[in-house]
Amino acid sequence: MIDFQTVLDTIHQEIGSRKEWGNVAAYIPELADIDNNKFGIHLIDFNRKNYSIGDSNESFSIQSISKVLTLAMALGLVGEDLWRRVDVEPSGDPFNHLSLLEQENGIPRNPLINAGALVVADVLVSRLKNPKEEFLAFIRKISNDPSIKYDEQVALSEKNTGFRNYAAANLLKSYGNLSNDVDVVLDFYFHQCSIAMNCAQLAKTFFLFINRGNCMQEQTYLNVNQAKRINALMLTCGFYDEAGEFAFEVGLPGKSGVGGGIVALLPNEFCVATWSPGLNKKGNSKLGMEALEKLTSDTDLSIF
Ligand code: GLN
Repeated sequence: MIDFQTVLDTIHQEIGSRKEWGNVAAYIPELADIDNNKFGIHLIDFNRKNYSIGDSNESFSIQSISKVLTLAMALGLVGEDLWRRVDVEPSGDPFNHLSLLEQENGIPRNPLINAGALVVADVLVSRLKNPKEEFLAFIRKISNDPSIKYDEQVALSEKNTGFRNYAAANLLKSYGNLSNDVDVVLDFYFHQCSIAMNCAQLAKTFFLFINRGNCMQEQTYLNVNQAKRINALMLTCGFYDEAGEFAFEVGLPGKSGVGGGIVALLPNEFCVATWSPGLNKKGNSKLGMEALEKLTSDTDLSIF
């Protein structure tokens, strides 16, 4: 039996003493003002035992990690039809690039880049009566945590600076791949990015991806196949143009956000969330990636 607490203690000691912490995202004040000297990890094993270290109870903006959760909800609602509007190939581009979208006639490469997440948001806006409320209710249910909230200030700042997201949504609209008004879809998207969670909440929320689509309370949200496909997308597309590097260094399906969070998982074994707001050049948490590399190397637990 692996003693995960000792593993996390060792990672905290080693990674926490690094000199290079990366740079926090600067495009909105709510992220730019965060102290980059933060580092937390929370791990839940398949038996629902919890292990944590550092700033694991401090809330941060989950940002693009939310794309996996909207995808899960949309796939649960519309099933395979979703893949007519968004592909499942890695883009090899940064999260907000637009050139492939034009070359490929408005079909985003995958649901974990911004253009793909906007299509998924459009599906939810079409299908749900009160999209923002129902999406938040979905997250509160799968995490079993009614305290999770949107951060309205972050959502507003996203809106005020979201020029490339406006461009992507308009491009999608011009190709007929957005059914609703651009502003309505973007309002939903900016809110999903603004969700605040700590590492413990994030690891609990993602438990269903290690448990064949069943949350910690054993309620089913995805079938086995859907959970498998979302995990495959996290592995191949979860880190944009650094997805290959993450698979190479860490060897787990995962997803990052520019708030400095990363969630990664090994089906039937564990789900782990890290937070360190300093980012590397590709916009992924620098120390989070290093911590996860050490976790899978020290425990010899990865999908490979
Ligand atoms: N809100 C950011 C955006 O859409 C999310 C980016 C991210 O976490 N990679 O630009």
